[in-house]
Amino acid sequence: MKFLIFGPPGSGKGTYSTRIEDKIDVEHIATGDIFREAVKEKTELGKRVKEYLDRGDLVPDELVNKVVREKLKKVGMDNFLLDGYPRTVEQAKFLNDIMDIDGLILLDVTDEIIIKRLSSRRICKDCGEVFNKLFHPPEEEGVCDKCGGDLYQRDDDKPDVIKDRINTYEERSEPVIDYFEGKIPIVVNRCRKANAPIDAMVKNIIDQMKERDLVS
Ligand SMILES: [Zn+2]
Repeated sequence: MKFLIFGPPGSGKGTYSTRIEDKIDVEHIATGDIFREAVKEKTELGKRVKEYLDRGDLVPDELVNKVVREKLKKVGMDNFLLDGYPRTVEQAKFLNDIMDIDGLILLDVTDEIIIKRLSSRRICKDCGEVFNKLFHPPEEEGVCDKCGGDLYQRDDDKPDVIKDRINTYEERSEPVIDYFEGKIPIVVNRCRKANAPIDAMVKNIIDQMKERDLVS
């Protein structure tokens, strides 16, 4: 089973993927992790990725494709839920050329919800634990439950930056959905509440996948 999970920043791709991974026995592969791994292991590709990241530049499609292909080969290429890739139509074409994807899960979330969710996120300065005022608030405001460290808001999670991230998604990534439309089944999960219960949402996704014979 080869699935993609797709959605704007703040749609909860990581959280959903972990839950879906447990239910249908696929390996969740997050491209952010693949990059970190390649950089850490100092592979040839990893070194090239690092150059871009150090400069704060976007990693070019061609290099992203190679890193992802390397990782997929390692996991056997036939049982995964890919999160964070493809992000552009060029990447989608590459993936479609090297393998048949079975389906795409689309997390359909409004801009309003994204802004509300992401701007509620707080991170521990010391241990990196992530809290969210909506779903996972710390016991004491501004203090980490785990280590007692101070919580802060990442610049990326401030409303103006969130709007930029949404725009980038709409310009570069939404065309990927159009690209796959008609080629592979697309399961859409509509979320219209900032604190919609994740269990019900995951059930909705799995039920739709079953209905369409994507999973048994
Ligand atoms: Zn902490």
